[in-house]
Amino acid sequence: MYTNELDGRHAYRREQRRLMTRGSTHIRLRIPKKLRLVGIIGFAVIALFVAFANDAARAFESDAPSRSLGTTEDGSLVNGKRLPTSGTNFRAYGRLPIALGRNSLHGRVRDAVLSAYAQVEKRHPETTFVYGECGWPSGGRIRPHVTHRNGLSIDFMVPVSSEGRSAMLRTHSGNKYGYSVHFDTHGWCEAQQCRIDFDAMASHLLCLADAAEAEGLSIWRVIFAPDLQPLLFATEKGKALQERLTFPEKQSWVRHDEHYHVDFHNPDKENGEQVVPGDA
Ligand SMILES: [Zn+2]
Repeated sequence: MYTNELDGRHAYRREQRRLMTRGSTHIRLRIPKKLRLVGIIGFAVIALFVAFANDAARAFESDAPSRSLGTTEDGSLVNGKRLPTSGTNFRAYGRLPIALGRNSLHGRVRDAVLSAYAQVEKRHPETTFVYGECGWPSGGRIRPHVTHRNGLSIDFMVPVSSEGRSAMLRTHSGNKYGYSVHFDTHGWCEAQQCRIDFDAMASHLLCLADAAEAEGLSIWRVIFAPDLQPLLFATEKGKALQERLTFPEKQSWVRHDEHYHVDFHNPDKENGEQVVPGDA
Protein backbone atom coordinates (compact mmCIF):
# COMPACT_ATOMS: atom_id res chain seq x y z
CA MET A 1 0.00 0.00 0.00
CA TYR A 2 2.83 2.31 1.02
CA THR A 3 4.70 1.51 -2.17
CA ASN A 4 1.62 2.17 -4.25
CA GLU A 5 1.14 5.54 -2.59
CA LEU A 6 4.75 6.47 -3.26
CA ASP A 7 4.53 5.34 -6.85
CA GLY A 8 1.36 7.36 -7.20
CA ARG A 9 3.01 10.51 -5.91
CA HIS A 10 5.99 10.04 -8.21
CA ALA A 11 3.70 9.49 -11.15
CA TYR A 12 1.73 12.61 -10.23
CA ARG A 13 4.91 14.74 -10.03
CA ARG A 14 6.19 13.33 -13.31
CA GLU A 15 2.92 14.25 -14.99
CA GLN A 16 3.05 17.76 -13.47
CA ARG A 17 6.61 18.22 -14.72
CA ARG A 18 5.62 16.91 -18.15
CA LEU A 19 2.72 19.32 -18.38
CA MET A 20 4.83 22.23 -17.15
CA THR A 21 7.59 21.40 -19.58
CA ARG A 22 5.10 21.01 -22.39
CA GLY A 23 3.45 24.30 -21.52
CA SER A 24 6.65 26.25 -21.33
CA THR A 25 7.94 24.64 -24.53
CA HIS A 26 4.69 25.57 -26.19
CA ILE A 27 5.10 29.20 -25.10
CA ARG A 28 8.79 29.22 -26.07
CA LEU A 29 8.00 27.98 -29.54
CA ARG A 30 5.00 30.17 -30.24
CA ILE A 31 6.55 33.54 -29.46
CA PRO A 32 9.73 33.12 -31.52
CA LYS A 33 7.67 31.74 -34.36
CA LYS A 34 5.60 34.93 -34.48
CA LEU A 35 8.67 37.07 -34.12
CA ARG A 36 10.42 35.11 -36.83
CA LEU A 37 7.49 35.63 -39.16
CA VAL A 38 7.38 39.36 -38.44
CA GLY A 39 11.15 39.50 -38.92
CA ILE A 40 11.03 37.64 -42.22
CA ILE A 41 8.20 39.81 -43.57
CA GLY A 42 9.94 42.97 -42.37
CA PHE A 43 13.22 41.93 -43.92
CA ALA A 44 11.52 41.03 -47.21
CA VAL A 45 9.72 44.39 -47.35
CA ILE A 46 12.95 46.29 -46.65
CA ALA A 47 14.91 44.17 -49.16
CA LEU A 48 12.28 44.73 -51.86
CA PHE A 49 12.19 48.45 -51.11
CA VAL A 50 15.97 48.74 -51.29
CA ALA A 51 16.16 46.65 -54.46
CA PHE A 52 13.35 48.24 -56.48
CA ALA A 53 12.39 51.62 -55.00
CA ASN A 54 14.61 53.61 -57.37
CA ASP A 55 13.36 51.79 -60.47
CA ALA A 56 9.74 52.11 -59.31
CA ALA A 57 10.13 55.80 -58.50
CA ARG A 58 11.68 56.39 -61.92
CA ALA A 59 8.79 54.59 -63.62
CA PHE A 60 6.29 56.97 -61.99
CA GLU A 61 8.42 60.09 -62.36
CA SER A 62 6.70 63.13 -63.84
CA ASP A 63 7.69 64.15 -67.38
CA ALA A 64 7.36 67.81 -66.43
CA PRO A 65 10.62 69.71 -66.87
CA SER A 66 12.81 70.30 -63.86
CA ARG A 67 13.51 73.70 -62.43
CA SER A 68 16.39 74.65 -60.14
CA LEU A 69 15.62 77.38 -57.65
CA GLY A 70 18.12 79.40 -55.64
CA THR A 71 21.70 78.26 -55.28
CA THR A 72 23.46 74.99 -54.64
CA GLU A 73 23.93 76.12 -51.02
CA ASP A 74 20.47 77.49 -50.48
CA GLY A 75 17.97 76.25 -53.02
CA SER A 76 15.47 73.64 -54.05
CA LEU A 77 14.44 71.61 -57.08
CA VAL A 78 11.12 71.20 -58.85
CA ASN A 79 10.46 67.91 -60.67
CA GLY A 80 13.82 66.33 -59.86
CA LYS A 81 14.82 63.28 -61.91
CA ARG A 82 16.58 60.26 -60.48
CA LEU A 83 19.56 58.61 -62.15
CA PRO A 84 19.15 54.94 -63.10
CA THR A 85 20.47 52.34 -60.67
CA SER A 86 22.99 51.18 -63.26
CA GLY A 87 23.84 51.16 -66.96
CA THR A 88 26.24 49.33 -69.24
CA ASN A 89 29.30 51.15 -67.85
CA PHE A 90 28.11 52.72 -64.61
CA ARG A 91 26.34 51.97 -61.36
CA ALA A 92 25.15 53.78 -58.27
CA TYR A 93 27.23 53.96 -55.10
CA GLY A 94 24.60 52.17 -53.01
CA ARG A 95 21.11 50.71 -53.26
CA LEU A 96 19.82 52.19 -50.03
CA PRO A 97 20.71 55.84 -50.64
CA ILE A 98 19.22 55.76 -54.13
CA ALA A 99 16.11 53.96 -52.85
CA LEU A 100 15.69 57.01 -50.64
CA GLY A 101 16.04 59.32 -53.66
CA ARG A 102 19.47 60.81 -52.98
CA ASN A 103 20.36 60.44 -56.69
CA SER A 104 18.06 63.18 -58.00
CA LEU A 105 19.15 65.92 -60.39
CA HIS A 106 17.77 68.59 -62.67
CA GLY A 107 16.47 66.63 -65.69
CA ARG A 108 18.92 68.20 -68.12
CA VAL A 109 21.84 67.49 -65.81
CA ARG A 110 20.71 63.88 -65.53
CA ASP A 111 20.57 63.66 -69.33
CA ALA A 112 24.07 65.15 -69.63
CA VAL A 113 25.42 62.67 -67.05
CA LEU A 114 23.93 59.71 -68.95
CA SER A 115 25.11 61.05 -72.29
CA ALA A 116 28.64 61.44 -70.90
CA TYR A 117 28.64 57.82 -69.72
CA ALA A 118 27.62 56.72 -73.23
CA GLN A 119 30.43 58.80 -74.75
CA VAL A 120 33.17 57.73 -72.35
CA GLU A 121 32.35 54.07 -72.95
CA LYS A 122 33.81 54.45 -76.44
CA ARG A 123 37.13 55.63 -75.01
CA HIS A 124 37.24 53.41 -71.91
CA PRO A 125 35.05 50.36 -72.61
CA GLU A 126 36.72 48.44 -69.79
CA THR A 127 35.83 50.95 -67.08
CA THR A 128 32.76 50.83 -64.88
CA PHE A 129 32.09 54.25 -63.39
CA VAL A 130 30.37 54.78 -60.06
CA TYR A 131 28.29 57.82 -59.32
CA GLY A 132 27.78 59.15 -55.80
CA GLU A 133 25.49 61.55 -54.01
CA CYS A 134 23.29 64.02 -55.92
CA GLY A 135 20.29 65.53 -54.10
CA TRP A 136 16.70 64.95 -53.02
CA PRO A 137 13.92 64.93 -55.67
CA SER A 138 12.72 68.25 -54.28
CA GLY A 139 16.16 69.54 -53.37
CA GLY A 140 16.90 71.25 -50.07
CA ARG A 141 19.31 70.29 -47.31
CA ILE A 142 20.89 66.88 -47.79
CA ARG A 143 23.21 65.98 -44.96
CA PRO A 144 26.16 66.01 -44.65
CA HIS A 145 26.64 68.14 -47.78
CA VAL A 146 26.96 71.89 -47.78
CA THR A 147 25.69 72.14 -51.37
CA HIS A 148 23.73 69.59 -53.49
CA ARG A 149 20.48 71.50 -52.81
CA ASN A 150 19.04 72.44 -56.20
CA GLY A 151 19.75 69.52 -58.54
CA LEU A 152 22.94 70.94 -60.06
CA SER A 153 25.54 69.07 -57.97
CA ILE A 154 26.74 65.52 -58.39
CA ASP A 155 29.56 63.45 -56.90
CA PHE A 156 31.43 60.87 -58.94
CA MET A 157 33.51 58.20 -57.21
CA VAL A 158 36.98 58.04 -58.76
CA PRO A 159 37.50 55.32 -61.39
CA VAL A 160 40.28 52.98 -60.26
CA SER A 161 42.64 50.33 -61.54
CA SER A 162 44.14 47.41 -59.71
CA GLU A 163 47.16 45.40 -60.83
CA GLY A 164 47.13 47.29 -64.11
CA ARG A 165 43.52 46.48 -64.89
CA SER A 166 40.39 48.53 -64.54
CA ALA A 167 38.63 47.85 -61.26
CA MET A 168 35.70 49.33 -59.38
CA LEU A 169 35.82 51.16 -56.11
CA ARG A 170 33.97 49.04 -53.55
CA THR A 171 31.21 51.10 -51.99
CA HIS A 172 28.92 49.85 -49.22
CA SER A 173 27.43 50.88 -45.90
CA GLY A 174 30.59 49.73 -44.10
CA ASN A 175 32.71 52.39 -45.84
CA LYS A 176 30.02 55.07 -45.96
CA TYR A 177 29.23 54.09 -49.53
CA GLY A 178 32.79 54.86 -50.58
CA TYR A 179 33.08 58.22 -48.85
CA SER A 180 35.38 56.92 -46.10
CA VAL A 181 37.81 55.35 -48.61
CA HIS A 182 40.99 57.38 -48.90
CA PHE A 183 43.81 57.79 -51.37
CA ASP A 184 47.32 59.03 -50.67
CA THR A 185 49.01 61.88 -52.53
CA HIS A 186 50.04 59.42 -55.27
CA GLY A 187 46.43 58.35 -55.83
CA TRP A 188 46.94 54.99 -54.13
CA CYS A 189 44.38 53.38 -51.83
CA GLU A 190 46.00 50.95 -49.42
CA ALA A 191 42.69 49.57 -48.11
CA GLN A 192 41.44 48.51 -51.54
CA GLN A 193 44.85 48.07 -53.18
CA CYS A 194 43.90 50.23 -56.13
CA ARG A 195 44.99 53.41 -57.84
CA ILE A 196 42.96 56.29 -59.25
CA ASP A 197 42.64 55.87 -63.01
CA PHE A 198 43.40 59.49 -63.89
CA ASP A 199 43.12 58.82 -67.63
CA ALA A 200 39.59 57.48 -67.28
CA MET A 201 38.69 60.34 -64.95
CA ALA A 202 40.01 62.96 -67.39
CA SER A 203 38.08 61.35 -70.26
CA HIS A 204 34.93 61.22 -68.21
CA LEU A 205 35.16 64.90 -67.30
CA LEU A 206 35.77 65.93 -70.91
CA CYS A 207 32.80 63.83 -72.03
CA LEU A 208 30.74 65.48 -69.31
CA ALA A 209 31.77 68.93 -70.53
CA ASP A 210 30.78 67.95 -74.11
CA ALA A 211 27.48 66.44 -72.97
CA ALA A 212 26.69 69.51 -70.87
CA GLU A 213 27.30 71.74 -73.88
CA ALA A 214 25.01 69.59 -76.04
CA GLU A 215 22.29 69.98 -73.39
CA GLY A 216 22.72 73.74 -73.31
CA LEU A 217 24.40 73.50 -69.91
CA SER A 218 27.83 74.40 -68.63
CA ILE A 219 29.95 73.15 -65.79
CA TRP A 220 30.65 75.72 -63.11
CA ARG A 221 33.44 73.88 -61.24
CA VAL A 222 34.98 70.52 -60.42
CA ILE A 223 36.08 70.04 -56.84
CA PHE A 224 38.92 67.53 -56.50
CA ALA A 225 41.72 67.28 -53.94
CA PRO A 226 44.30 70.00 -54.80
CA ASP A 227 47.19 67.64 -54.02
CA LEU A 228 45.88 65.14 -56.60
CA GLN A 229 45.08 67.66 -59.32
CA PRO A 230 48.66 67.65 -60.78
CA LEU A 231 48.31 63.91 -61.44
CA LEU A 232 45.05 64.52 -63.29
CA PHE A 233 46.53 67.39 -65.29
CA ALA A 234 49.58 65.28 -66.19
CA THR A 235 47.42 62.90 -68.24
CA GLU A 236 47.14 63.16 -72.02
CA LYS A 237 43.90 65.12 -71.71
CA GLY A 238 45.03 67.14 -68.71
CA LYS A 239 45.75 70.31 -70.64
CA ALA A 240 42.35 70.26 -72.33
CA LEU A 241 40.75 69.71 -68.95
CA GLN A 242 42.46 72.74 -67.46
CA GLU A 243 41.40 74.84 -70.43
CA ARG A 244 37.76 73.81 -70.32
CA LEU A 245 36.96 73.32 -66.66
CA THR A 246 37.57 75.16 -63.41
CA PHE A 247 39.24 73.29 -60.56
CA PRO A 248 39.34 75.35 -57.35
CA GLU A 249 42.79 75.10 -55.78
CA LYS A 250 41.59 75.75 -52.27
CA GLN A 251 41.22 72.68 -50.08
CA SER A 252 37.55 72.23 -49.15
CA TRP A 253 36.15 70.95 -45.86
CA VAL A 254 36.49 67.35 -47.05
CA ARG A 255 39.48 66.24 -49.10
CA HIS A 256 37.65 65.01 -52.23
CA ASP A 257 40.19 62.31 -52.95
CA GLU A 258 37.74 59.39 -53.31
CA HIS A 259 35.27 61.44 -55.34
CA TYR A 260 35.08 64.53 -57.51
CA HIS A 261 32.22 66.95 -57.11
CA VAL A 262 30.75 68.69 -60.15
CA ASP A 263 28.49 71.76 -60.04
CA PHE A 264 26.58 72.99 -63.09
CA HIS A 265 25.53 76.55 -63.76
CA ASN A 266 21.85 77.09 -63.14
CA PRO A 267 20.10 76.92 -66.55
CA ASP A 268 16.90 78.32 -65.06
CA LYS A 269 18.39 81.53 -63.84
CA GLU A 270 19.37 84.68 -65.70
CA ASN A 271 23.15 84.90 -65.45
CA GLY A 272 22.63 81.79 -63.39
CA GLU A 273 25.63 81.87 -61.16
CA GLN A 274 26.01 80.97 -57.58
CA VAL A 275 29.11 82.52 -56.13
CA VAL A 276 29.77 80.84 -52.85
CA PRO A 277 33.07 80.18 -51.18
CA GLY A 278 31.90 76.82 -49.88
CA ASP A 279 31.99 73.48 -51.55
CA ALA A 280 30.39 70.14 -51.80
ZN1 LIG B 1 29.53 66.82 -53.51
